[in-house]
Amino acid sequence: MKKLNGTVIVTYRCNAKCNMCNRYKCPSKKEEEITLETIKKLPPMYFTNITGGEPFIREDLSDIVRELYKKSDRIVISTNGFFTDRILKLCEEFPNVGIRISIEGLEETNNSIRGLENGFQRGYQTLKKLVERKHPDVGFGMTVQDANAKDLVALYQLSNELHMEFATASLHNSFYFVENSNIIHDRLKVAKEFENLINELLKSNSPKKWFRAYFNHGLINYIFSQKRLLPCNMAFDTFFLDPYGDVMPCNGTKEKEVMGNLNTMSFEELWNSSQAEEVRKKVRNCQRNCWMIGSVSPAMHKYIYVPAWWVFRHKFLRFFKKKKYSMYELDIVKKYESHEVSKEELDACSTCEKRKEV
Ligand code: SF4
Repeated sequence: MKKLNGTVIVTYRCNAKCNMCNRYKCPSKKEEEITLETIKKLPPMYFTNITGGEPFIREDLSDIVRELYKKSDRIVISTNGFFTDRILKLCEEFPNVGIRISIEGLEETNNSIRGLENGFQRGYQTLKKLVERKHPDVGFGMTVQDANAKDLVALYQLSNELHMEFATASLHNSFYFVENSNIIHDRLKVAKEFENLINELLKSNSPKKWFRAYFNHGLINYIFSQKRLLPCNMAFDTFFLDPYGDVMPCNGTKEKEVMGNLNTMSFEELWNSSQAEEVRKKVRNCQRNCWMIGSVSPAMHKYIYVPAWWVFRHKFLRFFKKKKYSMYELDIVKKYESHEVSKEELDACSTCEKRKEV
C-alpha cells in the first residue's frame, strides 16, 4: 500500500478552554480512547501528526509514539505545551519527534484566548527548554483571529530568535472544534497582519519560509470566504483517526464523516470499502474551502507547480522590491475595500452559521 499522510487524534480530553474550540466540553472518556491494538493496524505513513484534545493528557503517549515510529517516517505532535515534564521526557526518548506548541499571542492575549492560567509561560518555558536541549524539530503554531492578529509578526520574530518553525492557521468551524460561530470580523485588519508576515517570510533566505508565505496568502483568501487556491484531496492519500477508532477524511466537515471503524476492521478493508468511496465523493464536492495545514500541505506537494510559480514571482521577479507582496493581489480584497462586496455577503459564504446574528 502507498504511504499515506495520517493524523491521529489520540484523545478529545483537553486542559485548555480556547475561545475558538469547544472540544473541551465534549471530551472522550479515557476508557473509550483508541488502544495500541488499533494503532497497530494503521498503514505505512510518510507523515503522522498526533493531536487532540491535548495529546500529552494520555499517559501512554510514549507507547503510541513508539508504535507509530514502526510505520511512519516522520511524527509531529501538536500540543499546548502545558505538560512540560512529560514533553521533555518524551523528546528524550524520541529525539527526532517534532513538537508544535500552540501559542495564541503574547502573554496576555494567549492566556485570555486559551483560558489556561499561566498558559503562555508554561508553553514558552517548554519551548525554551527544548531549545536548550537542542531538540532539532520544535516550533510553534498560532490560530489567528481578531483578538491576536496584532501579535502575529512579533510571534514570528520570537520564533526566529529561538530558531524555530512558525505555523499559522485561522478560525474554522467543524464537528471537530464543536463550533459553528467562528468568523473573522475585521477582515482587512487581519489580512494586513498576514500581509506583513508574508513580506517577512519572503525576505528570508529559507525556501521553506517562501512556501509558508504562499500558505499565508491562502489564509487571506480563506478569511475572505473564497474558493480554495488548491483542490482538496482528503481521504485519497490522507486520513484522520479519531479517539473512537473512526477513520475520517479530515477535521473540517460540518458533521463527522466516517469511512469505517479501525477498532473492528482492518485498514485495507476500511480504505477500500464502499463507505470510504461515498466519503470521497463528498470530498470531491465539498464547498467548505478550509485552509488548514493538514489538508493544504498534501495539496501543495501534489500541485507543487502552483506554489512554486507563486514563490518564483514574489521572491525572484520582485527581487529588488522592498515590499514583495500585497494583499490587494487578491481581487476580493480590492472589491471588499471599495464596497463592491459587503461584509454580509462574505459572511454568508463562510462556514459560520451564526453569521446573520453578527
Ligand atoms: S475542504 Fe477538504 S478539508 Fe475542508 S471539509 Fe472539505 S474535504 Fe475536509
